[in-house]
Amino acid sequence: MTIDKTLFHPDYKPEPFWWEAARPGTTYSTNLPTQTEIFIVGSGYAGLSAALELAREGRSVTVVDALAFGEGASTRNGGGVSAGINLGKGISGSPGQNARDGDHKSLVRSLLRESLAAFELVGELVARENIDCHFERRGRFVGAYSKAHYPNLVEKAEFLNREMQLDAVAVPVEEQRSEIGSDFYHGGLAINRAGKIHPSLYHKGLLDACNRVGVTLCAHTKVTSIDGSVGQFTVKTEKGNCRAEQIIIATNGYTGDLTPKLRNRLVPISSQIIVTEELPKDLAHELIPKGRTISETPRVTSYYRLLPGDRRVMYGGRARFQDVPPDVSAGLLHRMMTDRWPQLKGTRITHSWSGFVAMTTDALPHMGQEDGLHFCTGCNGSGVAVMTYLGTQVARRILQDGQSDSAYFGLDFPGVPVPLYRGKPWFLPIVGEYYRYMDRKERRTGT
Ligand SMILES: Cc1cc2nc3c(=O)[nH]c(=O)nc-3n(C[C@H](O)[C@H](O)[C@H](O)COP(=O)(O)OP(=O)(O)OC[C@H]3O[C@@H](n4cnc5c(N)ncnc54)[C@H](O)[C@@H]3O)c2cc1C
Repeated sequence: MTIDKTLFHPDYKPEPFWWEAARPGTTYSTNLPTQTEIFIVGSGYAGLSAALELAREGRSVTVVDALAFGEGASTRNGGGVSAGINLGKGISGSPGQNARDGDHKSLVRSLLRESLAAFELVGELVARENIDCHFERRGRFVGAYSKAHYPNLVEKAEFLNREMQLDAVAVPVEEQRSEIGSDFYHGGLAINRAGKIHPSLYHKGLLDACNRVGVTLCAHTKVTSIDGSVGQFTVKTEKGNCRAEQIIIATNGYTGDLTPKLRNRLVPISSQIIVTEELPKDLAHELIPKGRTISETPRVTSYYRLLPGDRRVMYGGRARFQDVPPDVSAGLLHRMMTDRWPQLKGTRITHSWSGFVAMTTDALPHMGQEDGLHFCTGCNGSGVAVMTYLGTQVARRILQDGQSDSAYFGLDFPGVPVPLYRGKPWFLPIVGEYYRYMDRKERRTGT
């Protein structure tokens, strides 16, 4: 594929915009101890929020990461903070296995209630730990990609208000320009109880908080094997061994051979993002007048927003389902962005990057304990709030000697229904093309 060089600003960088303010690094990193009470693999939001909760209760905690701290999805994401709107996708359909004990409705209610708690938790942590990360509760707009999607959004507004008091309002196409400077959608849904954050400043704030309460932090320390059982694990890493009583696996879209049973239930998908150069103030305001985050209804979805300061656009989506070089995804995302906003045709790109999210078959995140190892995983592309929350919940379960109030604990965690699947999603290009075909068809025919 030829790359149109005129799309790139002279200061273009193939790395996350967020790293300009807080780059994943090794600050606070120390030598691996020989012994710890709780050992956490992964230093993203899930690993750090678990560590923070445990260390605040006086436990001895060690967090390690194969990369620099937060170099996985937690410093690469779009920073949209939502309360359960995506979760609905996974649980509004057939109850399936998870309803084996009967009350599907009550399970749905509990999970939705926890989604809201996850959203609120981010605000609580930001306030309690004094994290300066541009957390703005300015809401979200979800655009209807096809005509037939709009009535579903009207229904969804009622559902979200009834079950979660999300302050959601259906926006008919005639009023759409009050939400987005585009005629691309067939109306949409505005959710006031949603927000956005600067992802890597939020991550840095959690890391600082962990350091303050005495968590041992070890960067560039890949875990290669775990042996033993609860109370007497031996963790082998590239930097030596450590004995631990409890282990938490918080590796999400970066889960590998260390935990094959988890890996085989997750499909890692690449998500890509671009950022534009600064826009004239009036134009930026016209694009998203209320400063909301934007998402949309197709299977292959985009998510976008203004950056802090409200002068630059961040546009994210699945340019490809598998990882592609940032220069390639930049061109594809730019085209998608200008389909929605033709007024940005001449606008240049300053940053382009990607990261991995973990999808699950039931589109739900999961937490639990298996072979003695605690885990939380499967953000399905929406984990700023929920992975912070699940990390905290896993920690509370350890603190409460195995008791948990969370409905996530004990949910069936289905495998990927592909024979001999071993964490390498060879089928993604096929599934991706099928999804794109269906999206185009529904948009064309209004179904
Ligand atoms: C491009 C992109 C855009 C996104 N946009 C949004 C958004 O707008 N809103 C939203 O809510 N969510 C979004 N997400 C999802 C969100 O970023 C994730 O759900 C969240 O960051 C996951 O946090 P985590 O702690 O579970 O995992 P991660 O932050 O991915 O951390 C996992 C860590 O585990 C480490 N690890 C793996 N194996 C080992 C090992 N063997 N030894 C040691 N360490 C190991 C990895 O190095 C990695 O740092 C997006 C994700 C991406 C990639």
